[in-house]
Amino acid sequence: MKQVNPSRGVAILGSTGSIGTQALDVIREQRELLHVEVLTANRNATLLIQQALEFRPNAVVIVDSTKLGEVKDALFSHGIKAYGGAKALEQVVEMEGVSIVLTALVGAAGLRPTLSAIRAKKNIALANKETLVVAGALVMKEALAAGIDVHPVDSEHSAIYQCLAGEVLNPIEKVILTASGGPFRGKTRDELMLVTKAQALKHPNWDMGPKITIDSASMMNKGLEVIEAKWLFNVRMDQIEVVVHPQSIVHSCVQFEDGSIKAQLGLPDMKLPIQYALGYPKRLKNNFQRFSFFDHPELTFEKPDLDAFRNLQLAFDAGDKGGNAPAILNAANEVAVERFLKDELRFTEMTKVLEHALGQVDWEKQPSLEGLIASDEEARVKASEFTP
Ligand code: NDP
Repeated sequence: MKQVNPSRGVAILGSTGSIGTQALDVIREQRELLHVEVLTANRNATLLIQQALEFRPNAVVIVDSTKLGEVKDALFSHGIKAYGGAKALEQVVEMEGVSIVLTALVGAAGLRPTLSAIRAKKNIALANKETLVVAGALVMKEALAAGIDVHPVDSEHSAIYQCLAGEVLNPIEKVILTASGGPFRGKTRDELMLVTKAQALKHPNWDMGPKITIDSASMMNKGLEVIEAKWLFNVRMDQIEVVVHPQSIVHSCVQFEDGSIKAQLGLPDMKLPIQYALGYPKRLKNNFQRFSFFDHPELTFEKPDLDAFRNLQLAFDAGDKGGNAPAILNAANEVAVERFLKDELRFTEMTKVLEHALGQVDWEKQPSLEGLIASDEEARVKASEFTP
């Protein structure tokens, strides 16, 4: 009789990043239940090789093909296959031993490999929110047709997912996404004109990759999360509320039709939502630091300032408009953040780039995948060319 391996095979797309390395910390502590089948990186060959030698995956991918020789040389004698290029991401997720794919790469680059994994009937642990922002309707439709689960990794969406456990028969009245407010909470639009890159890269509560850190400072991250929530939980935009909660302890809430609100709380540590997504539906025992109310006697809540943090309003508007609007917004934002990190734009000029792209790319109500990718490409061009 064929032996069934009780351990779940995980493919980590973006294993060298902030979420990827924390996922490996989780797997290191849960070796009987989880093992690594695939690891991937964009350019960081050194860390990818080091991770592969420790976790012994079946295969690795380095997107930057110029580094493939170095990776192959280091891993060949250990029986670990190595591939190069973005297309390889779409192929490795289909491998037989993979049962769940953690999408921890940045930006719209996550879309094609995620679709490929869904079509191969692999469950998804979704950190890459941009995938749902760009093509939420298509991705969730394909996931439903394939009969697979999309387990959110974003702490807010994981919180909502956890609140919904056991509530299948109870419709959601509202989801409440909490936001830390980032390093510039309380600043006016004029004050935001003067903030620096170094200040924007210092998040008060979370240690994350550079793109999401800038998105958090501009509250674009919350905007992307609002659109992500719409697709994950099948709610309308007017059922989503953002509440600023600077302590990042209440990770998010669901309000049901009887008015009751369920919330999930914990210390700000991504390892818990990562572990919940990889171990779902089990809650795996761990040694993570525990939260105590006595250490956090003051939990506060505020309204977001949509005038100062215009990106959040733009995301609500794009989510409401639907079609290709969120894809345009997301692509322009990826370019704007890159330009801000290269000192080509000031902080508030990123918003002007988004408004420019949204005004320039034609709106489509029901775009196909190809249509969305074309809108993404066009928005990138508009956002790169524009001088605010
Ligand atoms: P990082 O920048 O820390 O890591 C990104 C990872 O993806 C790296 O492994 C990087 O490889 C790889 N990568 C980057 N660009 C590409 C590309 N074009 N194609 C293939 N691989 C690529 O990002 P984070 O871990 O912070 O974020 C990952 C995703 O998770 C994002 O969508 C983010 O919004 C989301 N997320 C992150 C959270 C966090 O706490 N960090 C919280 C919630 C969601 P290399 O190292 O070689 O560059």
